[in-house]
Amino acid sequence: MIPYNKPFLTGNEFKYIEIAIKKGKISGNGYFTHLCQEFFLKRYEFPKCLLTTSCTDALEMSAILADVKVGDEVIVPSFTFTSSANAFILRGAKIVFADSGELHPNITAKEIGRLITKQTKAILIVHYAGVACEMDEIVKICKENEIILIEDCAHSIDSYYNGKPLGSFGTFSAFSFHETKNINAGEGGMLVINDERFFQRAEIIWEKGTNRVSFLRGDVNKYEWIDVGSSFLPSELTSAFLFAQLEKIEVIQNKRIQIYYQYYDNLEHLHNVGSICLPYIFDYASNNAHIFYFICKNKMERDDFINFMNSKGIKTIFHYLPLHKSPFYSKFVSLTLPNAEFFSDCLVRLPLFYELTNEQIDFISKTVFEFYKV
Ligand SMILES: *Cc1c(COP(=O)(O)O)cnc(C)c1O
Repeated sequence: MIPYNKPFLTGNEFKYIEIAIKKGKISGNGYFTHLCQEFFLKRYEFPKCLLTTSCTDALEMSAILADVKVGDEVIVPSFTFTSSANAFILRGAKIVFADSGELHPNITAKEIGRLITKQTKAILIVHYAGVACEMDEIVKICKENEIILIEDCAHSIDSYYNGKPLGSFGTFSAFSFHETKNINAGEGGMLVINDERFFQRAEIIWEKGTNRVSFLRGDVNKYEWIDVGSSFLPSELTSAFLFAQLEKIEVIQNKRIQIYYQYYDNLEHLHNVGSICLPYIFDYASNNAHIFYFICKNKMERDDFINFMNSKGIKTIFHYLPLHKSPFYSKFVSLTLPNAEFFSDCLVRLPLFYELTNEQIDFISKTVFEFYKV
């Protein structure tokens, strides 16, 4: 069976974990945590980064930092992972679900404009498959309405909007290093803080509500309980693993992009004859090859396709079940968001991981043709 994902090891993971252990400090905020954070500061010029144990954690930190409270509204795309909404539900906010655009699963500026009210405190956007949202328009809306922008960058490492890295637009941005993402640490994440007014509070929330980070830097002579917070730091074992991955980001990205375009070239004919619809990438967006997906005509065809591929030993998957239709949310609100529902019904993802061989990609592509009998 060809799996849909296989976490890739660059080869230095064990070595760096051993170094972390030998250093005698394996809790968080140590040598490798700093190396990873510096990597992001340098490569993407993010002003402040804090590693977290997951993207989910980074989103929860964002919700605390944004001071989201009971009665506040937060606009979130329906076509996303639960964590994007859950972070704000935990603060008692009301989630206002947004539809996807027609061409691409991303939220649109137009949709955001439709949903804004006086109660809108924050907007969370997801750059689906690493393809940027309409950042000029969205940033403008947030500025004009004094709304906090949060980027869920779980898909969007090393991806750009008109040359500017994703993760540098929001007041806060959350990255994921879950094993299904381009760069992985098993479980892991990072919060980027782009507004210096939040730097200090972010460190406090990160360290269980204490000013321990300031204390370790020597800014204060004891550390105390200052604010709310939780345990958001990953251990040095995770950071050591992550650093081994980050060092090889170019190699990993080049390989994923090559795989993506091999699929694209192989399947383009099916797109041209109207059997499937290949991913749409806006002119302003880069492609970080996080996901290779295409769109089927309807749910029945998509489900048949997944079964067919399974029978040939190829694991393909779909996502997301739209959050506005989830058992949790639909108890409270009944909504129809046609584009999100369309992508949920019709989108399918092909295997995409570093070790996928050219022969496997061609075999998978050939099997797609077999299904469509073209
Ligand atoms: C994977 C993912 C998350 C959650 O990431 P974790 O690191 O597993 O917490 C959040 N949002 C989106 C869009 C994701 O794809």
